[in-house]
Amino acid sequence: MFTMKYIKIINYRIIILFILFQSQIENSIGQSKEECGTVPNQQYLDYLENSLTEREKLVNRHYKDRLQGRATSTSIPVQFHVSRTTEGNDAAVSDEDLLKVIDNINTSFSIMGISFTSCGQTKFIDDTFLHTNFEKDLHDPLLDQYDDKFILNIYFFADITDVNGYAKFPQDQVDRIVITSERALTSTVEHELGHYFSLLHTYETSRGNELVSGNNCRVAGDFICDTPPDPGDRSDFNACIYNGTAVDGAGDRYAPDGFNYMGRGQATCRNRFSILQRERILASLLMDRYYLVDCSQTAPENSCISTITSFPYEESFEDFAGGTEWRQNVDDDFGWRIRHRTSSSNTGPDEALDGDYFMYTEASDYMNATGILSSPCFDLQDRSTLNVTFGYHLFGTDIGKLSLQLTKDEGATWASVWVQQGNKGNQWNNAVITLDEYVGNTIQLRFVGETGSGSRGDMAIDNIVISSAPLVTGVRPGPDKNTLTLYPNPARDILTIQYSDLKQGHPTLYVTNVSGHVVYEQKLSNISASKEIKLDLKEWNPGVYYVRIIGQEKEFTTMFVHQP
Ligand SMILES: [Zn+2]
Repeated sequence: MFTMKYIKIINYRIIILFILFQSQIENSIGQSKEECGTVPNQQYLDYLENSLTEREKLVNRHYKDRLQGRATSTSIPVQFHVSRTTEGNDAAVSDEDLLKVIDNINTSFSIMGISFTSCGQTKFIDDTFLHTNFEKDLHDPLLDQYDDKFILNIYFFADITDVNGYAKFPQDQVDRIVITSERALTSTVEHELGHYFSLLHTYETSRGNELVSGNNCRVAGDFICDTPPDPGDRSDFNACIYNGTAVDGAGDRYAPDGFNYMGRGQATCRNRFSILQRERILASLLMDRYYLVDCSQTAPENSCISTITSFPYEESFEDFAGGTEWRQNVDDDFGWRIRHRTSSSNTGPDEALDGDYFMYTEASDYMNATGILSSPCFDLQDRSTLNVTFGYHLFGTDIGKLSLQLTKDEGATWASVWVQQGNKGNQWNNAVITLDEYVGNTIQLRFVGETGSGSRGDMAIDNIVISSAPLVTGVRPGPDKNTLTLYPNPARDILTIQYSDLKQGHPTLYVTNVSGHVVYEQKLSNISASKEIKLDLKEWNPGVYYVRIIGQEKEFTTMFVHQP
């Protein structure tokens, strides 16, 4: 007891000394205030802790993709917002310094293959009061109106009264960091970007104190094992080196890294992320912030990122690291997420329907809210059919409504072409939709997820296939509409194939699935009279199939949909 008291007294004196020393340093760059206002809530800590393994898998796959040349560096689109007086004077940070900010963070993140691109003109917030009196807790909600969606918004105010900076964690689904102007050219920017990409402080203790031994490094502190725990007392850093004497619960002396961006070191000292922190940043980019692709995200929601002209088109959300053609709506309540597994049990799929990844809505974060995921456009001119198949998973007592909508007038109007709601059990189901009435147009699809009022209601989609047969069938001349007829279409149990006018040769009938695999084959007799074949589909997987008759002179192709 005596020893403890003695140490406490000594510490107390050291603290006073350092507070004096510190305040001199701090005064040289501004008044003393809370260094960082980014505070994780329990929900975010749960989310992060439950997804650690998933994050590691994503990074491993990313490394493999990089080695094989599939993944290239990622450029993060940035929009700067800078405060000024109401008269439009005294910008918190000059355009010249904003270029330096971009240079600085590009240098710091280049080792991760991440760069930052300014999306264009700086946007100004002209309000003298906010300019010099911005307060995180009071004024942060005001910034909702200024945020550009799916772009990293970096705000600078001339003075933030309570903190030097703060960021939004991925769980917030807001793309924002806010920094006081005097810290624009310091490591505070990297620090807040670290939070934005999921990192916690190395001195985080919400889940208990991390031990110096590392024994609990995945469940306590910052959940990262190569960052030594930091007892969190800034005054114990003499310049960049820790010289405190604090010990952890096991009696081991702390040895925090004064150079770590996420630590308690001085802003002027911090200059590195640890290896595992870098991997967490990459994982967060792949898992939480994958929608940050380019500045064109500000395009209106109804404009197509690309137009598909070859079919069948398949999207299984496997290549999102290189960017997907699917886009989040910019005016809805939440973004769909990409995932291998859901973090909450009792809801959502255990695995993807196809490949390793699927898209889903996280019900526990957004209740009674709408999230819209839009497809690229599909050019259906000179097409005769349109079929859409996809897998959906609606499991949980609080499941809301999932619908597929279609526009043929560039988003002016959307028609609902498929709707499901309520609990459909813990399984993937197949949707098979025939939309032949839309051929001849350029169309766009979108999935609209409307979450229910509870947390057990994750909706998921995967393996979307869009098939469309060409209007003119056959590669050889003279196709005849009466030559190959299928009915009923869509078919459930029995499909009747009628064919005629195959004057000579030894025609063969093939049925292929959307992947091009032949699932049925039969030689047809050399006759000219009308003939028919009945196919029993009871054992066939639901989906889109192509029927092709290849003869000596002619070849005919058409398609049908097999419904479960
Ligand atoms: Zn922080």
